[in-house]
Amino acid sequence: MRHVTLNNGIDMPILGFGVYQIPPERTEQAVLDALAAGYRLLDTAASYGNEEAVGRAIKASGIPRDELFVTTKLWLRDTGEENTRRAFATSLRKLGLDYLDLYLIHQPYNDVYGSWRAMERLHRDGVIRAIGVSNFHPDRLVDLLSFNEITPAVNQIETHPFFQRTADQEVMREHGVQIESWGGFAEGRGGLFTHPLLSGIAERHGRSVAQIVLRWLVQRDVVTIPKSVRAERMAENIDVFDFALTDDQMAAIATLDTGSSLFFDHRDPAVVDWFAGLHRDTA
Ligand code: NAP
Repeated sequence: MRHVTLNNGIDMPILGFGVYQIPPERTEQAVLDALAAGYRLLDTAASYGNEEAVGRAIKASGIPRDELFVTTKLWLRDTGEENTRRAFATSLRKLGLDYLDLYLIHQPYNDVYGSWRAMERLHRDGVIRAIGVSNFHPDRLVDLLSFNEITPAVNQIETHPFFQRTADQEVMREHGVQIESWGGFAEGRGGLFTHPLLSGIAERHGRSVAQIVLRWLVQRDVVTIPKSVRAERMAENIDVFDFALTDDQMAAIATLDTGSSLFFDHRDPAVVDWFAGLHRDTA
């Protein structure tokens, strides 16, 4: 496994396992399978409703805590200084852990400044090894890091062959923020798994399209967290470190970029309103 070094000196595996949309009753087994396949980075969130199951799998696996890199995320309704401390304590308890490797602000809305101050303090207290954000466009990211003490270690954003984020990655690189991809397969949207260009490259390497996409992300120094509930796919998805795409293949994949989201544009007021509605409904 390759690692990246975050801006505070800690190492993070470049490829991990995401558990979004895995129902809680299936999550423990899925995480156990992923750990058995060699994954050591786990990505969950308070809003996924499966932190307890992730925690049970970690415990049952018997893998020493310091060999794991566990990420969870702060949900929208829990922003603000006091709420964040409470939400963090809840997540930690559900995961059955006494520290977290990475804590992310899940969405760039509501009182993220208050949350960031709380997270800075929790980081200094030693209960979170790295703090970061998710779904922040460069303007929001640079705003946050310009007016606070700690620069986010990571920004987890939608990144896949149809929305490549190369300019955003450049801004992050300039500021020392590690890019992490969510939806690396675009959850299969846009016909990703059968795309002719990706299938052609896969054929030339004797690999699957999934492996080509993950290799492409890793070669761009993007941390990636593919999700699967199937053990054979977990094994396939982590097996991308013994081959390399050529410059021509990287350039060919670059032509697939549409420059826009396949899910939601976080800068669209209607999307902000939709998230705010979620907040109102669950507050
Ligand atoms: P994804 O990883 O792009 O795609 C997952 C889909 O691909 C599933 O339907 C899975 O099906 C299928 N798949 C996995 N491996 C495959 C393979 N080798 N061949 C064919 N199909 C395969 O989607 P994602 O779960 O949305 O994103 C990954 C992780 O990013 C999430 O789990 C979560 O941790 C994180 N995330 C974060 C945010 C955020 O706002 N920060 C948003 C979305 C996701 P099976 O399970 O049936 O194999």
